[in-house]
Amino acid sequence: MHASSITLDRCRTFDLPVSRADALALLHDFIAHRLADFGTHQDAMWLGELFLSHSRLSAALNVKLISAREVVDAVVDAARDRDLPLNSVEGFIRQIVGWREFVRGLYWRLMPGYAERNALDAHRPLPDLFWTGDTDMRCLHDCTTQLLRHGYAHHIQRLMVFGNFALLAGIEPLAFHDWHMAMYVDAIDWVSLPNAFGMSQHADGGVVGTKPYIASGRYIARMSNYCKGRVPIRADARDRRRRLPVHDALLGFPRPASRTARRQPAHALSAAEPRGERSRRASADSAAGRGLPRASRSTKAVSRVTGR
Ligand SMILES: Cc1cc2nc3c(=O)[nH]c(=O)nc-3n(C[C@H](O)[C@H](O)[C@H](O)COP(=O)(O)OP(=O)(O)OC[C@H]3O[C@@H](n4cnc5c(N)ncnc54)[C@H](O)[C@@H]3O)c2cc1C
Repeated sequence: MHASSITLDRCRTFDLPVSRADALALLHDFIAHRLADFGTHQDAMWLGELFLSHSRLSAALNVKLISAREVVDAVVDAARDRDLPLNSVEGFIRQIVGWREFVRGLYWRLMPGYAERNALDAHRPLPDLFWTGDTDMRCLHDCTTQLLRHGYAHHIQRLMVFGNFALLAGIEPLAFHDWHMAMYVDAIDWVSLPNAFGMSQHADGGVVGTKPYIASGRYIARMSNYCKGRVPIRADARDRRRRLPVHDALLGFPRPASRTARRQPAHALSAAEPRGERSRRASADSAAGRGLPRASRSTKAVSRVTGR
């Protein structure tokens, strides 16, 4: 579908809160119907299941139709009244108190200099497929199409599909952040910047996280059904030309230069990275030598599918 017809389609299906009453209704609907499964499904990605058990409250929170305290209090009250799983209640509250409040503090403490950081010296432009979804990689195609239609992708799609690809491809962090600001309904500078620069692209050199979030295509295959069935490019294809490029790009990814990250053992670089990949990447790293600009070593696989 062409991007402009997706936009029209999106106007017809728009269902986000635009008033305080809408925001409260969405909160109560989430607590009644999806909170119980939040913990189990929060990291999953599934074709056709756009929102899974996520709350979709971010835009309402960011434009102040509802406050973080109200949301947390309502969830705590529900947990007192009903027998809700701990991983759902704790997992959800952690997103708000642990992440949202944390990045807010970081932003106000470290800006404006924070937005100039580029610890991994990444300068590649954002590929067009981030704007159009026009690619044979089903994970990126599906997430972008959903984003164009609903202005929404959930956290793991942002971090482990878009973010992982951008990080391994050596995309300029500011271009990645600017793209977020243009694409997401909930985009707001103080939340997007620490997430895009810090958590996702490790451009802050280890302020938000001591290690970059990177993973091979196997992580995407394990957490989603994007590689199931007949797909032109898949995580585990033997033929390099048909293999998800993050798989090969990961092998050439250098260790981060930050002091904290240098102190981490190699296996701590990514919790999501399978063990076999870690040792292959470690030997590829030492064979290639550390400290070289990343774009020279990790992005051939990406060029194959982006044409840049
Ligand atoms: C690269 C990147 C950019 C992001 N940019 C934004 C942004 O501009 N605006 C935004 O609101 N969120 C942003 N996030 C955080 C998160 O992905 C969204 O808040 C979440 O996906 C919104 O969907 P939801 O309301 O269904 O969240 P749920 O999964 O239901 O989570 C509940 C709430 O927790 C909060 N939350 C969860 N994770 C984070 C996080 N990492 N940082 C801050 N708050 C969090 C949100 O307010 C969210 O509504 C970004 C994440 C990444 C990885």
